[in-house]
Amino acid sequence: MEKDDTICAISTPVGEGGIGVVRMSGQLAHPILKKIFKPNKNTDFYQPRTLYLGHITNPENGKIVDEVFVVFMHGPNTYTKEDITEVYSHGGYAPQKSILAIMTAQGARLAEPGEFTKRAFLNGRIDLLQAESVLDIIQSETDEELKNAVDQLGGGLSRKINGLKANIKEALINMDALIDFPEEDVEIDKKGILLNLRRTVREIEGLVDSYYEGRAIKYGLEVLIVGKPNVGKSSLLNALLLKEKAIVTSFPGTTRDLIEDTLHIKGIKVKIIDSAGLRKPMDAVEREGVDRVNQKIPKADLIIWVLDGSDIYASEDEDVLSKIREMSIIPVINKIDLPQRLDRTILKSGNLQWIEISSLLDMGLEELKNEIYRKLMEKGFKKSGVLITSIRQSDALEKTAEALGRAITCIKKQEPIEFTAFEIQESLSCLGEITGETCPEEILQGIFDRFCIGK
Ligand code: GDP
Repeated sequence: MEKDDTICAISTPVGEGGIGVVRMSGQLAHPILKKIFKPNKNTDFYQPRTLYLGHITNPENGKIVDEVFVVFMHGPNTYTKEDITEVYSHGGYAPQKSILAIMTAQGARLAEPGEFTKRAFLNGRIDLLQAESVLDIIQSETDEELKNAVDQLGGGLSRKINGLKANIKEALINMDALIDFPEEDVEIDKKGILLNLRRTVREIEGLVDSYYEGRAIKYGLEVLIVGKPNVGKSSLLNALLLKEKAIVTSFPGTTRDLIEDTLHIKGIKVKIIDSAGLRKPMDAVEREGVDRVNQKIPKADLIIWVLDGSDIYASEDEDVLSKIREMSIIPVINKIDLPQRLDRTILKSGNLQWIEISSLLDMGLEELKNEIYRKLMEKGFKKSGVLITSIRQSDALEKTAEALGRAITCIKKQEPIEFTAFEIQESLSCLGEITGETCPEEILQGIFDRFCIGK
């Protein structure tokens, strides 16, 4: 069985570096390392979690591969709960590859992506949420993202889910008593169960709502720049990103596709997207570009509507506004370095608060960033508490709440108690998917496949 294999992998990024770590986990981890490591000071016994200096040699020909530090760790107090060894060699492709080759020649096999973490999960050291958080920590780009992932690894979200599970189980136990002893006049506290289930549904809904924030922290919120052609959308994107991401020309209709990049504003990841100018398309490519903007508008978290201060307010501007009116928007008047012709009273009468900028001269951009932050925060950023960060978690929670909703309906309609118990059981199974207790193998594999090799 593959779980009994001893696995090995390079755990540091491939390339040149000061040091590189090669890790082994499994029954043969200690015997293999003892065979291939020659300590500088002879020893019969390796203290666990102590560094030993020496050389990795190839037992087939006695050749030294590299000078290294090694450490032995005993299961179950290790990352995988198995015996682990780590070799700290010089960072570089050749030494690490040679060490790995010697390990595999001695009976270890190359680890699959995420296999160390998968073993930690399968051996019960962490649940699936914590395993996912390991990946989130590795991929964190902002402090906020890291903080949330570290909380999740510490079991913050797991505890919350387990609390919900305990509540639901309590309701189930009450009901089982009635199913098991129908003839005995067991009084069940239906009102108590209903209250408990309703409270649990509310808590789950709160968690589902936190996905907005969790997603924002992890993937970034989407801020879409729209406006008629030539108002300076691409220039604004470049000015915000401080780089030439989009092509800027004086010809209208240059940007045909959605161009995006990530910006961090006060610790929030913001995906800024430049779009094709909205006007009657001149050709098929431009039409495709305009279609893409139209599809993107309802999905964006915030719209920056760019107007040209040096131009009059035209029917094309009005057309743009009609498309975004329902959205959260920041009107931005660009090109304030030029003589102004734009009539502000139109915005005033629409009760729209605008910001004046010059993308060319970098004027007003800080104020715009502050406003982007403020608007995004308005959408319910709490910056505290337990957050969910993946659609997988959100979907499973929604399914849990739906099953509980059906259980509540069964109780209210006085349907047979078995129906209610079935729905409650179903909700527990959905909840179990989140922590991995009842998670189908392909979902599990999908999660670990996203890891790098060596983690
Ligand atoms: P887009 O079509 O809306 O993406 O507009 P671009 O960013 O391509 O800019 C159109 C033209 O306006 C280019 O010639 C830019 O150099 C110019 N432009 C953009 N922003 C400013 C600005 O703040 N001031 C001035 N004077 N010109 C600008």
